[in-house]
Amino acid sequence: MKNKFQVKYRNTQLAKAKGKKFDLIVIGGGITGAGIALDAVSRGFSVLLLEKLDFASGTSSKSTKLIHGGLRYLKQLELGLVKESGSERAIVHKLAPHLVHPEKMFLPIVEGGSFGKWSASMAISVYDYLASVRKQDRKQSLSREEALAAEPLLDSKLLKSGIIYSEYRTDDARLCIEVIKKAVALGALAFNYCEVTDLEYDNGKVSALRAYDQIGKREYIFSARFIVSAAGPWVDHLRKKDDSLNNKRLRLTKGVHLVFDRERLPVRQSIYFDDFEGRMLFAIPRLGVTYVGTTDTDYRSDMDRILCEESDIEYILNAVNKIFDIKPLSRIDIRSTWAGVRPLIGEEGKSASEVSRKDEIFESDSGLISIAGGKLTGYRKMAQRIVDLLQTKSKALPQATCQTDTLQLTEDAFRNYDTVMDYIAELNKSFEAAGSTELQCSYLVSNYGKTSEIIMTQARDALNEFGSWDQAVLAFEIDYAILEESCYYPSDFFNRRSGLLYFDPKRLDQHFEFVLAQFQKHFAWPQDKYDQIRELELQHKKDYMINAS
Ligand code: FAD
Repeated sequence: MKNKFQVKYRNTQLAKAKGKKFDLIVIGGGITGAGIALDAVSRGFSVLLLEKLDFASGTSSKSTKLIHGGLRYLKQLELGLVKESGSERAIVHKLAPHLVHPEKMFLPIVEGGSFGKWSASMAISVYDYLASVRKQDRKQSLSREEALAAEPLLDSKLLKSGIIYSEYRTDDARLCIEVIKKAVALGALAFNYCEVTDLEYDNGKVSALRAYDQIGKREYIFSARFIVSAAGPWVDHLRKKDDSLNNKRLRLTKGVHLVFDRERLPVRQSIYFDDFEGRMLFAIPRLGVTYVGTTDTDYRSDMDRILCEESDIEYILNAVNKIFDIKPLSRIDIRSTWAGVRPLIGEEGKSASEVSRKDEIFESDSGLISIAGGKLTGYRKMAQRIVDLLQTKSKALPQATCQTDTLQLTEDAFRNYDTVMDYIAELNKSFEAAGSTELQCSYLVSNYGKTSEIIMTQARDALNEFGSWDQAVLAFEIDYAILEESCYYPSDFFNRRSGLLYFDPKRLDQHFEFVLAQFQKHFAWPQDKYDQIRELELQHKKDYMINAS
C-alpha cells in the first residue's frame, strides 16, 4: 500500500481531497488535532487534517515533554484533571513504549521551598492513588542523607529530604507525528504547510473552508459535515473569522526551556525543584544534555516568532544556580532554547500559573467546534470527547466507540519498555563494528522504533559514500523523514523529526551544512531557492541557539 504521507503523493492526495465531502476536517496539526484525527478515523470517519506550518510546530514541540499527572494541579485541587492525566500516562506509554518512557522524578524538600516533608508526602500519595500507580512504582521517601546520595548536585545547606515518584517522558513532536502517521495509515489525509485562510458557509452553517498550500502555491476549497478547530493558541483567530469570539477567550502564557551540556549540569535523574518564589521547575537529563524549564508569563506578542527572552534566561539561570551546588551556569552555557505558548482558557483574576490547564470545547452558532486548553498528556481523552460529541450531533456518522486506548501507534510495536531496552542493546551489538554506540541506538530507537534497524543497515551499506558513520546514519534519518514523514525543510528535521535542536544541538551544529545539502539533493532546489532556505535556516538556528555563531 502506498504511504499517503510521502512527499511525492502530496499533489494527487490534495486533488483527491478537493472533490470530496469529509465527515470531519480538523484544523491544526498539533497533538490535539492529531488525536482527534486518529480517534475519528479509527471509528470509521473520513477525515482531513490541515496544518498551516509543520506538524507539531506550535506548542506541541515546545512542552516540557512529560506525560504527567501534574503534581502542582493537586495544590489547585484539580483532582479530576490529575486523575485523568495520571491514568492516561500508563495508557500512552503502552501505545508507544519506545517513545513514552517511564521516568523517575526526584522532588527535593528544601529549606524555604513550596513543599514541606509531610505535605509533599501526602500529596504524592494522593497523586499515586488517583493515577492508580502500581505498587512497585509508588513514591519513595528519602532521608536527607539518602536524598543527597541520590542527587549530590543539590545544595546540601538547603536540602532537608526528598521524594522519588513516577512519571513518563516523551518527545512531544514525535508523539504528535506518530499519532498523525497512524491516522494516515488508517485512511485519514493530513497535510502540513496548508493554512486554513477562510471558512465557507451554507445557510449560516460552516460547511467548507479555504486552504492555501504553501508547497504547491495553490488555494483549495475542502468541504465537510463537521469542522473542528484544534488550532491551539490560534483558536481565537479562527473563532474571530467565524464571528463567534465572545467573552470567553484564550489566555496565552509563554513557557521557556534552556538546554545545557550534560557535563555542566550532570543531574542523575529528572528533578522537580523550587525557584523559592512559589513556582517549580524541571531539570531533565536526556542524551548529552540537561534541559531546564519552564517559565509561565502572559504572552501578547508576535505569534509567528515566539522566542526566549533575556528575562526568561535570567529567571531560569537564577533558579538553577540557587538550588544546585555547581559552578554557576551563565548565558554562555546555553546550548539551545525553546519557547512555546499555552493555549489556556481565560479566567479573571488569576495569575498565569494559577489558570487551570483543563480543556474546553466551544460550539458556535455556525457549527464550528473549537477545542483548547488541556495538556499533551490528555490528548487522547480530549479527542474522545470531541468525537463522542460529533456522534451525538449526527447519526449519519459512524457510531463506533473510542478505541484509541488500545491502538498501538507504530507498526510492529514493542510489547513493553523492557523489550525496548533489550532491542537497543541488540542493535548496538549488531552495529558496533560499523561505529554505533549505546547512546546513539537509544536516540534512534526512541525516535524511530524498529525502523532504526533499517536506517542503520542502509547507513552501513552506504558507509563508503559518507565522511563518517554518524553522517551516514544522519543521511538515512533524513531520507526516512522526507520519504515517510512529510518533512520539507531542514528545520522540520532538526526540531520535529530528529529532536537534534533540543537533545543534541552539538550534532546539529556539526552537520548543519551537510543536512542542508541532503535536502537540496532530495528536492533538487535550484541555487537561488537553496540560498533563500539557507538564510532562513541560519536565522532559525540563531533564534534557538542563542550562542551559535
Ligand atoms: P498546538 O500544538 O499549538 O497546535 C495547534 C496547531 O494549529 C499549530 O501547529 C498551528 O500551526 C496550527 N494552526 C493554527 N492556525 C491554523 C490555520 N489557520 N490553519 C491550519 N493550521 C493552523 N503538557 C503536558 O502534558 N506535559 C508537559 O510537560 C507540558 N509542558 C508544557 C510546557 C510548556 C512551556 C507549554 C507551553 C506547554 C506544556 N504542556 C505540557 C501543554 C501542551 O504542550 C499543550 O497543551 C499542547 O501541546 C497543545 O497542543 P495543541 O494541539 O492544542 O496546540
